[in-house]
Amino acid sequence: MALKKKLFIKTYGCQMNVYDSDRMADVLAPLGYEPTDQPDGADMVILNTCHIREKASEKVYSELGRIRHLQNEKASGGGRMVVAVAGCVAQAEGAEIMMRAPHVDMVFGPQTYHQLPEMVTRAVRGAGGVVNTDFPVESKFDLLPEESAKPQGPAAFLSVQEGCDKFCTFCVVPYTRGSEYSRPVGQVLNEARRLVSHGVREITLLGQNVNAFHGEAADGSVWGLGRLIRALAEIDGLERIRYTTSHPRDMDDDLIDAHGTVPQLMPFLHLPVQSGSDRILAAMNRKHTGDDYRRLIDRLRTRQPDLALSSDFITGFPGETDQDFADTLRLINDIGFAQAYSFKYSARPGTPAAGLEGRQVDEKVKDERLQAVQQLLNAQQVAFNQTMIGRTLSVLFDRVGKLEGQLLGRSAYMQSVYVQAPARLMGQMVDVHVTGAFANSLSGHVVTGETVTQAAPAVEAHA
Ligand code: SAM
Ligand code: SF4
Repeated sequence: MALKKKLFIKTYGCQMNVYDSDRMADVLAPLGYEPTDQPDGADMVILNTCHIREKASEKVYSELGRIRHLQNEKASGGGRMVVAVAGCVAQAEGAEIMMRAPHVDMVFGPQTYHQLPEMVTRAVRGAGGVVNTDFPVESKFDLLPEESAKPQGPAAFLSVQEGCDKFCTFCVVPYTRGSEYSRPVGQVLNEARRLVSHGVREITLLGQNVNAFHGEAADGSVWGLGRLIRALAEIDGLERIRYTTSHPRDMDDDLIDAHGTVPQLMPFLHLPVQSGSDRILAAMNRKHTGDDYRRLIDRLRTRQPDLALSSDFITGFPGETDQDFADTLRLINDIGFAQAYSFKYSARPGTPAAGLEGRQVDEKVKDERLQAVQQLLNAQQVAFNQTMIGRTLSVLFDRVGKLEGQLLGRSAYMQSVYVQAPARLMGQMVDVHVTGAFANSLSGHVVTGETVTQAAPAVEAHA
């Protein structure tokens, strides 16, 4: 039995990184590493990083500065803290990280964490820093421990697809995560069954471009995401299925149909469009127009009229004019989103859009457009949340709230819902009568089972 050691992992960015961090902990468990939620005194600290925007990358370096003090403290007590940078910044910057932060022991990309035990051995021996940014021929998914740590709650992530071949001109993902890869169907179904056997009731299928999924089944046939979702829906006890993130071009008929025919598939879809201007969409290499997106949403809403939509928007892409931006606002008004994310364009080294000399939009204009887009999206989100007042929604409680006796869960439409309820309802799917609607959450009281109702807080209360 290996000696117990403390492992602290800090995760930045997307849900795929959250999934990856859990798998890294699984790989390190046989070496005696146990997760801790504080970096102080840890034997290993891993920063699992995001490179998508400049701000995300820079955060890593300031965190490394803080970690250095903790590493020195540990060393002064005769201990050793191994410091690692993983994820997309590691992939993109490699050895450069060790030049800027020489106290880092390991730098490794998203495709290599199954090789962590060897990397740790090399780093601990102290034979210089370990840099591993390979795209190994073997898939990490085939080599990860099958029986991994127990899931943390009733809702879990499951990576089914990774990488991207779309090469949107603003995006680093094809460079940091590599080309598109789908896990074999059998592997995905086994992992889903295992999660459900540990009490998971909701699974979110993950991929940088998850609806490009084309996994091979045991009989050699290739399944799309729609077929995978139908098979998952047959697992007893799996009550909710979601998937993220999708590309409009990969929404095929079967997947659209699944939205109307698979009750476990939640009526919520995150489908990034980025811009409403055809000129900008072409410059982004998105390979769809604003009207293609509108038609796609019409088809989805025909199959599932209750579908709530989310999206991503970028403001200030190189060359974006006032007219282009007005087209984005028009698209938002045409569709009506339940929630959405919006970002200022951030030039990423090595991407085609970053090299568009003289076409970069002024920072102040980017800011103004971002504010305008967020104002409109927030208004739509509040309006959507308000349509929930008086309705009874099924909520899966997965966290405790900040207030005494408060539980927090998600509605089918991904809204956070707060109620006063006994702790024993944690992990349960419960009907909640909605009485309050706020910008980022709903509140209400439990209406099923024994009466456990109590007045919900009159103001928005974040967990
Ligand atoms: N695969 C998804 C798609 O097709 O849209 C998106 C994945 S990306 C990790 C998440 C979001 O980050 C994108 O949808 C985009 O809005 C945003 N993003 C990516 N690169 C960006 C950049 N250079 N500047 C600003 N936002 C960016
Ligand atoms: Fe990036 Fe998504 Fe475009 Fe792929 S499809 S390049 S992940 S924005």
